[in-house]
Amino acid sequence: MKRDHAKLICDVGELTGLFHDAPGMEDFLRKITAMITRHMACEVCSIYLYYQDSRELVLKATTGLNPSCVGHVRMRLGEGLTGQALKERRPICEGRAKDNPHFRYFPGIGEEKFESFLAVPILRGTVEIGVMVIQSEKKNYFTPEDIQIFRAVTSQLAATIETARLLITLNDKERQKRAPAVAADLKFVKGRSGAEGVALGNAVVVDEAMTDLQRFTQTSHTHTEDDFHKAVQATEAQLEDLQEQVETTLFDVAALIFTAQILMLKDKGFSDVIAAQIRHGVDPPQAVVSVVQEYVRKFASINDSYLREKIYDVKDMGRRVLENMTGLKDPHADFEGRIVIARELFPSDVLKLFSQKVKGIILLNGGVTSHVAILSRSLNIPLVIADEPGLLAVPGGTRVLLDAVMGTIHINPDEDTVRKVLDREDLNKDLDRLKRLIREHPKTKDGVAVKLMANINLLGDLKAANEFKADGIGLYRTEFPFLIRSNFPLEEEQYLIYRRLVQGMPGKEITFRTLDIGGDKILLHYNYGREENPFLGLRSIRFSLKHKDVFIQQIRAILRAGHGHDMRVLFPMISSVDEFLEAKGIVQECAHDLAKEGIKYIKDPPIGTMIELPSVIEIIDELAQEADFLSIGTNDLIQYLLAVDRNNEKVADLYMPYHPAVLRALKKVADAGLKYGKDVSVCGDMAHSVQFLPFLLGIGLRRFSMDARYLPSVHEKLSTIVLAEAEIKTREILQQSKAVRTAQLLDDF
Ligand code: PEP
Ligand code: MG
Repeated sequence: MKRDHAKLICDVGELTGLFHDAPGMEDFLRKITAMITRHMACEVCSIYLYYQDSRELVLKATTGLNPSCVGHVRMRLGEGLTGQALKERRPICEGRAKDNPHFRYFPGIGEEKFESFLAVPILRGTVEIGVMVIQSEKKNYFTPEDIQIFRAVTSQLAATIETARLLITLNDKERQKRAPAVAADLKFVKGRSGAEGVALGNAVVVDEAMTDLQRFTQTSHTHTEDDFHKAVQATEAQLEDLQEQVETTLFDVAALIFTAQILMLKDKGFSDVIAAQIRHGVDPPQAVVSVVQEYVRKFASINDSYLREKIYDVKDMGRRVLENMTGLKDPHADFEGRIVIARELFPSDVLKLFSQKVKGIILLNGGVTSHVAILSRSLNIPLVIADEPGLLAVPGGTRVLLDAVMGTIHINPDEDTVRKVLDREDLNKDLDRLKRLIREHPKTKDGVAVKLMANINLLGDLKAANEFKADGIGLYRTEFPFLIRSNFPLEEEQYLIYRRLVQGMPGKEITFRTLDIGGDKILLHYNYGREENPFLGLRSIRFSLKHKDVFIQQIRAILRAGHGHDMRVLFPMISSVDEFLEAKGIVQECAHDLAKEGIKYIKDPPIGTMIELPSVIEIIDELAQEADFLSIGTNDLIQYLLAVDRNNEKVADLYMPYHPAVLRALKKVADAGLKYGKDVSVCGDMAHSVQFLPFLLGIGLRRFSMDARYLPSVHEKLSTIVLAEAEIKTREILQQSKAVRTAQLLDDF
């Protein structure tokens, strides 16, 4: 169809004249989109407005896409082709949009059938106003002339659209004043998956859950001191029960999870003070609330991260006592079957939520490779990370569908969406189908053998690792048992945990990574002092070398547990040959001491280093000569190489595993391993990416360790790869200097 360009410009002029009569600004924008589709003879026109405060583009009008997505599809500057058009301030035209690696698909928007895509930024001088997009079902539809004319139209409309945006913003602010629940019209949020899975449940915002004790005092019932003592006993029994249940399912990490609360409950400073207040005539629920609040005030006044945890504990304990006394339930504090929404969580919080049978987690701040995400995967708690402050205003009890495979959040979803997502997940969970994808001896299509191993965070991960026939454990993150305890676990305690691990995978190689705490893995009982940059601070091997007493206990426990097994020791975050040798020296000293003491231990286990810092890429040859094996921690390597915090959602688009610097660094490590005859494995999240697998094979890597849940898809992909072809493509990738190009080539794999 011939497009009527001249008429289009003229009608825009007319439409601008209609501006004052439009019933609403959204309606005005929609009229523009309808008119443009007619004149450009295409099926879709959409307007996205840019909001400086949230640095987000929001779909505000469309003709051709699903109208219910208006207001709900959001993207950051640079995200997707639309975000990229605004960030780079240039039109983006694609004959087949899906071929571009920046293309971002938003479920439910109805974009699947559209091939051609043209986005033009709406700018007024240097001011970013938004993006206008047209789409067509036909491939290669838009011509250079179309681009020119569409730019002209967009530029003509820019000032008008800016005014519309201003009015929409003012109206939104008015609406917000009237209805404090900002999230009332939040229906769909696109975030990123931190732990895959699907969950349907009622929302609870954690901050809100922690503050609402006062409501228990508004009861018409009269209570006595005896009611209080009975409530304390009932609470104690409940907490002991919970502790017992958790200890059977989380043997390695659960110690003392609820004991802090039990101890507080028994503390005379708590119960005696409350009883005294009651005797002085204070209503019992009010007495509990005021003493709990007093504890909270005291904890809050001390600058220590451990005490943040205690505030949670004392409030939670107070809530339990109040519930047992009044018979009222706090619907926000019961996490069973709930989708928890939180700004931020610690790994220990995740363990508590797990023990309280939470169904899913939405985090505003965090990264997909953060340890909260890693832990959630081990605990099978679906987790989505979405930097959308409106989520904190979702009213408690709202039905939420968490699709942590696609990384999407549906608020008050319709039944059709629920059914589609749940049906798809049922298929993903079909264990028999997944097991059929596992090969006895994994190899490429042309027969090159590859080792596919499992990462273990919790002992509970062993089950899936065995089910999916892992070729051993390529990474056991030993720090998790340290995280929740109220003290460093002693050698004996660690030995018992490690022993269970080696017995859980007999006859197979097991790699123990020594303690990697600090960064986002904070020990609750250890006062770090204030660290401005914890990821650059006393983290990982630095902590171990500074606290040799703790390190020695751990190494002794590892060496003892490894007796009679095929095991290896791996140091995290090594930055120099000197540091590696110092840590290795301690292993040798521990072995020497154990021998002297006549205790059984593994003699001369291979000792390796993780490759996570840019500094060791430069000295990789020397390090490869000293170490028995190398293991690449891509999660940290990418973070440190690109200076992008792996936990910061705001820079998530800069966390680029496909960056040429990352790919070339990996090649250097693979080459060094080959040159000095040392095994090199990948144990960061890149190891489970089917997109990267051909490249990693192409540079010569043959060992991969990943969360066991990814083993089936990696087995499946591996059997389709022809190594010779992968090597040719890999050479081409390594010659590229631009990330956009490497991303494209990796996608083509
Ligand atoms: C990594 O950094 O890639 C890694 C495997 O270690 P962690 O994710 O535990 O930091
Ligand atoms: Mg790491």
